[in-house]
Amino acid sequence: MVDFEENVRYLKGIGETRAKALARLGITTLGDLVSFFPYAYEDRRQIFSLAEAPDSLPVCVRAMVVTRPVSVRARTGREMLKLKIADDSGSCDVTYFNQTYLKDTIHQGKTYIFYGRLGGRGYSRSMVNPLFEPEESQGTITGRIMPIYHLTAGLSQRTVSAAVKNALQLCGEELPDPLPAEIIRRNRLAQARFAYQNIHFPTDDHALETARRRMVFEELFVLSAALTLLRGRRRAAPVRPWQAIEEDEFYRTLPFSPTGAQRRAVRESIADLTSGRAMSRLLQGDVGSGKTLVAAALIVQAVRNGSQAAFMAPTELLVNQHYETLCGFLHPLGIRVQRLTGSMTARQKREARQRLSEGEVDVIVGTHALLSEDVVFRELGLVVTDEQHRFGVDQRGALTAKGHSPHLLVMSATPIPRTLALIIYGDLDISVLDELPPGRQKVDTFAVDEGMRQRILAFIRRLVGEGRQVFIVCPMVEENEELPENIKNAESYARELQETLLPELRIGCIHGRMKPGPKDAVMNAFVQGELDVLVSTTVIEVGVDVPNAALMIVENAERFGLSQLHQLRGRVGRGAHKSYCVLFSDSAKPEAKERLKTLVDTNDGFRIAEADLKMRGPGDFFGSRQHGLPGMHVADLSADMRVLKTAQDEAQELLKTDPTLSRPENAPLRERIDRLFALRAETFN
Ligand code: ADP
Ligand code: MG
Repeated sequence: MVDFEENVRYLKGIGETRAKALARLGITTLGDLVSFFPYAYEDRRQIFSLAEAPDSLPVCVRAMVVTRPVSVRARTGREMLKLKIADDSGSCDVTYFNQTYLKDTIHQGKTYIFYGRLGGRGYSRSMVNPLFEPEESQGTITGRIMPIYHLTAGLSQRTVSAAVKNALQLCGEELPDPLPAEIIRRNRLAQARFAYQNIHFPTDDHALETARRRMVFEELFVLSAALTLLRGRRRAAPVRPWQAIEEDEFYRTLPFSPTGAQRRAVRESIADLTSGRAMSRLLQGDVGSGKTLVAAALIVQAVRNGSQAAFMAPTELLVNQHYETLCGFLHPLGIRVQRLTGSMTARQKREARQRLSEGEVDVIVGTHALLSEDVVFRELGLVVTDEQHRFGVDQRGALTAKGHSPHLLVMSATPIPRTLALIIYGDLDISVLDELPPGRQKVDTFAVDEGMRQRILAFIRRLVGEGRQVFIVCPMVEENEELPENIKNAESYARELQETLLPELRIGCIHGRMKPGPKDAVMNAFVQGELDVLVSTTVIEVGVDVPNAALMIVENAERFGLSQLHQLRGRVGRGAHKSYCVLFSDSAKPEAKERLKTLVDTNDGFRIAEADLKMRGPGDFFGSRQHGLPGMHVADLSADMRVLKTAQDEAQELLKTDPTLSRPENAPLRERIDRLFALRAETFN
């Protein structure tokens, strides 16, 4: 039996030239080769008769060569090999260009399986350059599900799949497996050998799915274990463990009871806070899932343990909103909340800073103004950042540097991909709020085209007549982008609405080129109810809360990502009023319609993110370009937050029992991780 570490040159058919070509794909060992997974598959199981084969896609036919193959030279000088094949249903002319050498391998009177696209109809069918193999050795390139690999010059699909097959045979039944047997059993995963075999050469769809599920799990598990090991190293310096404060003290002061998911997230975080190591946790929850409450519960823990907390949000408006919310949650417990934003007067800021450094403030809520070097804490123990992707990692670091390894809670409403990149870069544990507070109304969503314009305008008038407010979002347009004429521009559309379409309503507009001051003024007017309709680019995407807004209209919806549309929709339905979302799109493309239908059909942010991923295709993210990690071979085909979570939990459990992975049974995992580190030392340091 041969080792995974053996060079690919070992394989029959792989000489120096092909080995070089494989090396360009990052493949040098047999292990690399069998981990080079197909990016797609072609189903070549069904065999058609010549008469019935569809002409739209490549298919397999079983047919006999009925003429002697002859080579002819076309007037253009090209050499062709011509022959005729037939089955019981009809016949077909076959032509090979520039492959006259096939004359010696394809013989009159023999039956082959051909694979290719059939042209013509009835009695005059034809094929050009079909692949073929003798009927009796069927199963190598036809009659099966074929893997399709990314190639490079000097390699063909046939070469790669033959090499993989050969390598799998040589490596035998027992492949090195980074997954402990117990974890395989508990998660009902396939064995390594089965998974490798079937991810390349699936016997059927189910086997492929089973194989892929295991590979996704394995990949995420190895990555999580690697990051956990690393975190262990980084957190060598211990912090003072906090005393857990009974959460009920806080819960009792609330006007509602926390959801199960909120309680779970709080418990998971408290386990970190009391562990004697600094927490780094991502709190991930759909819009409206109640992340702020979880943050407040942790702030209580901080303050009761004699520490201060900092809460950073990306805009002044959000800071004001969080400030109000936190005051509501925390004042009943006697916790002192302070605000710090750029628009406060110099004197107000100075006073706020002074009270903070003297310990007269327990929680400070602010924009990036918190990062300023003259903001000093007496004892910073907890940092919370909202909507993390608006901040760079270094900004987060600048804030945590103001304490001695303070605990960190990062809140985000973006499921993937940004979050994923974050987990990877930022070494974050994850808590998921997968449950909305009870009584939340579903936002009725409609995908419509221009034909509905008048009715929607009437609908706006009616809702405003009932006292509601309306958001209209237009796509962000690049400075120099040539505008197709059907694209709505926020500024001019707002003018048109005010002057002609809805002159009786109060309409405001916010767009990307406005300065923060005027922008906040318009936003505030809307929050205060002084405007009926707010037309904007996506600046309102981030957590603004206007409970009175009951209608969200998105123009040119096809230009937005699904997750982004879902976030926008989350801006309404936050109050007691029945709410609606209207997605305008005139795009004739069926994919565009199908994408929007996802939003009409579901309110589940995770499902939407998954659909987004599927439709945008892999490669876009989880690809190594984005996060600088070793290639995710399979996870980009079906990246799944939930698998990530399970894989991460399992990895952490395992590392609890064997923190350095030195037990013999964990050697394969340790080796895999060492290779990962060796490959990307720069990413991990
Ligand atoms: P997000 O996760 O989008 O930041 P918020 O924290 O802003 O969500 O919460 C959205 C709204 O839901 C707020 O008005 C908040 O007071 C309310 N809320 C939070 N938790 C609950 C709960 N358990 N029951 C009822 N309402 C809740
Ligand atoms: Mg929020």
